[in-house]
Amino acid sequence: NLGKVFGDAGGIGFRPARPPVHAVDGVDFDVKRGETLAVVGESGCGKSTLGRLLLRLIEPSQGQIYFEGQDLTTLSKAGLRQLRQKMQMVFQDPYGSLSPRRTVGQIIAEPLEVFGLAGSVRQKRDAVAALLEQVGLPTAAMDRHPRQFSGGQRQRIGIARAIALDPAFIVADEPVSALDVSVQAQIVNLLQDLQAQRGFSYLFIAHDLAVVQHIADRVMVMYLGRVVEIGPKNQVYGAPHHPYTQALLSAAPEPDPTRKGNRIVLEGDVPSPTKVPPGCSFHTRCPLAQPLCREKVPPLAEVAPGQAAACHFAAPFPIKI
Ligand code: SF4
Ligand code: MG
Repeated sequence: NLGKVFGDAGGIGFRPARPPVHAVDGVDFDVKRGETLAVVGESGCGKSTLGRLLLRLIEPSQGQIYFEGQDLTTLSKAGLRQLRQKMQMVFQDPYGSLSPRRTVGQIIAEPLEVFGLAGSVRQKRDAVAALLEQVGLPTAAMDRHPRQFSGGQRQRIGIARAIALDPAFIVADEPVSALDVSVQAQIVNLLQDLQAQRGFSYLFIAHDLAVVQHIADRVMVMYLGRVVEIGPKNQVYGAPHHPYTQALLSAAPEPDPTRKGNRIVLEGDVPSPTKVPPGCSFHTRCPLAQPLCREKVPPLAEVAPGQAAACHFAAPFPIKI
């Protein structure tokens, strides 16, 4: 059971949407309260589009998005505004997402002000100081500007802003991929610590499979705007059933060269979302493709408890990375 029960008390659900050029199509999943669902796939697979759709930063042309039992696509502007408080985003680029002319304090306090929760000047400074402390920055940072901070510190500022309103759900769109490898682990650990303290859920968009293996509870693999595999992390990593998942995992660095034989190598690039191949959209790159694959779209079907794959010939493929 993939948790297709929408409108339950916690978490967020999403049903098929069909925006122009089908950047995301037929995607149906949920995120449970307190869990981290990682979304993986090559660039151009619709991962970021999906994150923006969920927060309604982009309007879906079709489909429903449920958040704590309410369908966001039918809410009034005022109703949506209230729910927005509980849904935040951490962006990939900490440089581009922080206004250079504002102080760190102004940046972090902005969501509080937008929702009328900032209080007096004193209360606002106290709130910002507490948020800075939670993300591991000194209180004095509030009077400085983003350019005075390193990439990792700027991402901490972005995270402080994202948690200011005590959200229930955070879309983290490649939150560490623009950072030096040496600081990535610190930021991932910070994201995990904050989740443990506050109990929110993440949709964690990433292409680094090692980071995903570290942080995810469940993993959703996307290809050309569709979910091709979803399941608990250990199952998806230990026994991927879709050839695309198998290829992504095979491409990860292999610490043991004697195991090199057991690999699927992907050739070519992801086709344009305006030219999605018919049938299984992966058939143009799939080493296992059969004539049926060009004709019939494979449904996302359960392959193991809690795990589903969209492949006519889904089969376990044990890989260790
Ligand atoms: Fe490959 Fe066919 Fe499975 Fe698609 S349905 S992933 S083309 S084997
Ligand atoms: Mg992206």
